[in-house]
Amino acid sequence: MSAAEGTTRNAELFDRARAAIPGGVNSPVRGFGSVGGTPRFLERAEGPHVWDAEGSRYVDLVASWGPALLGHAEPSVLEAVHAAVSRGLSFGASTPGETELAELIAERVRAGGLAPVERVRLVSTGTEATMTAIRLARGATGRDLLVKFAGHYHGHSDSLLAEAGSGLATLALPGSAGVTAATAAQTLVVPYNDRAAVEAVFAEHGERIAAIITEASAANMGVVPPEPGFNAFLAETAHRHGALLILDEVLTGFRVHPAGFWGLQVEGGERFVPDLMTFGKVIGGGLPLAALGGRADLMAQLAPTGPVYQAGTLSGNPVAVAAGLATLRAATPEVYARLNRTADAIVAATGEALHAAGVEHSISRAGNLFNVVFAPRSPRDYAEAKTQRAERYAPFFHAMLDAGVSLPPSVFEAWFVTAAHDEAALDQIRAALPLAARAAAAG
Ligand SMILES: *Cc1c(COP(=O)(O)O)cnc(C)c1O
Repeated sequence: MSAAEGTTRNAELFDRARAAIPGGVNSPVRGFGSVGGTPRFLERAEGPHVWDAEGSRYVDLVASWGPALLGHAEPSVLEAVHAAVSRGLSFGASTPGETELAELIAERVRAGGLAPVERVRLVSTGTEATMTAIRLARGATGRDLLVKFAGHYHGHSDSLLAEAGSGLATLALPGSAGVTAATAAQTLVVPYNDRAAVEAVFAEHGERIAAIITEASAANMGVVPPEPGFNAFLAETAHRHGALLILDEVLTGFRVHPAGFWGLQVEGGERFVPDLMTFGKVIGGGLPLAALGGRADLMAQLAPTGPVYQAGTLSGNPVAVAAGLATLRAATPEVYARLNRTADAIVAATGEALHAAGVEHSISRAGNLFNVVFAPRSPRDYAEAKTQRAERYAPFFHAMLDAGVSLPPSVFEAWFVTAAHDEAALDQIRAALPLAARAAAAG
């Protein structure tokens, strides 16, 4: 099949979708806006692969944007989901599984004798988790301002859409229409990895700042890890001023280490205790589930024990909880070791191919999360991330896609490996890279 014929069915589906759904997509980055061309409509996924509506198979490095840690349609997860479905879909009442998952999250997020998650509340999306964490921080401190970093994405609630990374970076919007000036004014945006900027914002507004929210490692403007000591500095600075640190592990949590990016850092010798943490993506194993957790006294401020309201009709949905429990239970230390080896192999092959094609690049990495940057060094903040030769990504992306490898459709997104990527999948990636690297060189 030629490339032109090969996109016919996908193109038809996209046309039809655009007549029914804004932009044809239910989340913006799926629309291929920054890489152009026709999004693939997917019908099936298994192991390291996805299949589109034309029956073409791709090695997948999107992994549903993270949740497919074990690989797609992992048998033990499907079995748990089937068993849960057979008992009913939703009860609107407490279920034993919710407590098991809360206990498991609290138990997993421990390192170096520290245990920052004493209580957990389950919600349905990462957006709800961070939105609730902020409300809780404001309610608990009685303060109104929030500090966030440029290029960090925390979901699409109003307070958090200021300079919010990938989706918005891709569309080149500074924020979002529909967010009131009053709301925007309560979020103080500072450059990432910039201690002086954090100090300055606290020197000016310290008594009004409820919390700093930060991605445990930035990964929504491409991967941009915190510099050594930066997260601990944030905890110390927030606490010195009576504010809280919200560590957003929606993307990194249970993906880069059994205890998330925080666990990786504590194991590496950085000791700090966030007040609240947010989780999503991996903990739902592919179904809508997210969580916030933290200090017991703070979490007790949530309704019904406290005055900070939060609720959800489908919160702790039994099918999603079953998928989450099965996923976390299967995510053993061996799985993380395997994910690291897979990431190592793809990083090495990608670097070699780009080097051979003479493409100036670096590969930015945090644990098993990584991506190519078309600049000589990895960025330390959003301003620097935007200075790369981003136009090289579209030809690179499409050459990979034509060779059956599905990368994230934006240069500002992390690549996601799964435990199901085997030698055959890696070989297909290695085989695709040289031509894609040459396409990038020409781009
Ligand atoms: C994906 C993401 C969110 C939002 O989660 P949704 O489930 O998409 O609402 C929040 N924070 C981070 C760091 C994320 O990567």
